[in-house]
Amino acid sequence: MGLFDTVVIGSGVAGMTAAIYLKRSNKKVLLLEKSAPGGQINRTAKIENYPGYKEVDGPTLAMNIYEQVMALEIEYRYGNVLEIENSKDKKIIKTDMEEIETKTIVIASGRSPKELGLDNEKQLIGHGISYCAICDGPLYKEQVIAVVGGGNSALEEALYLSELCKKVYIIHRRDTLRADAILQEKTKEKKNIEFLYNSNVTELQEENNQLTSLLVNQDGKIEKLDVNGLFIYIGNTPNTEFLKENEIQLENGYLVVDSNMKTSIDGIYACGDVIKKEFYQISTAVGEGATAALAIKKALE
Ligand code: NAP
Repeated sequence: MGLFDTVVIGSGVAGMTAAIYLKRSNKKVLLLEKSAPGGQINRTAKIENYPGYKEVDGPTLAMNIYEQVMALEIEYRYGNVLEIENSKDKKIIKTDMEEIETKTIVIASGRSPKELGLDNEKQLIGHGISYCAICDGPLYKEQVIAVVGGGNSALEEALYLSELCKKVYIIHRRDTLRADAILQEKTKEKKNIEFLYNSNVTELQEENNQLTSLLVNQDGKIEKLDVNGLFIYIGNTPNTEFLKENEIQLENGYLVVDSNMKTSIDGIYACGDVIKKEFYQISTAVGEGATAALAIKKALE
């Protein structure tokens, strides 16, 4: 199998960009992924702020980048990273499938959706609870659903769902939204979207293992809300469970990098949503992927 120049962990937008740049620099590169290519954008119904596309859905953009990866014959393998072993001359990546040796690593493992943490939440996934409007929205055609969250994701996905569903409630814990102004305006114009501010979902009620209603605490008053589905968009947790905080610098689980995307360990770089930064955008992830790859090329040469 031999020693790779770089192994990229994660085939989201950032990871695939890094792999494309490295392969085009004639580096021996491996792209490692534990699920489908594209990462988080696969959960995005409509993207309107990625240059070159007036409007595109996440899975299409993911597939377009993946096709570019395939056309370059970049080696692509499945595997869940469990641990990274670091020594001066090489690094060993231990996955659930194999051990891989490499000179450098790009960590682009992204983030996963946060859960509300309610008792039966996990058990109702696929039975009324979803974290992906584009995947599951069509199941709730002409039905009543609720979205939790007040950020860009919650409002974007609520807009998408409002085209399919009879009624969409947006349940937000504060009285001010975090989402961009343009999204707030668009959402407020929709007749079938209703905002419930200062509100928290406190209980998921079910019948025959199917969500039927929510208990919502609004300003201290508990109301029952009948819904067919609940879409949860309350932010994300970085996928860094395979790293040890005493070995690599993390902040709240996010990787700390310098302007070249280098982590606190020589030869290990990171990009995309897994890093500590201010703006989590598709376009910033692409830029960081390119920066990490170019910095590695320079370091290797
Ligand atoms: P986010 O911006 O972190 O927003 C999370 C929302 O969920 C916030 O409104 C937060 O409330 C709420 N929340 C957090 N924990 C909660 C809990 N336990 N119970 C109830 N509500 C809770 O997350 P996001 O919307 O997923 O976006 C992530 C990043 O991607 C952001 O940087 C965003 O700008 C970016 N993004 C950009 C676009 C775009 O540019 N079009 C699209 C999607 C995402 P509070 O407001 O009270 O904290």
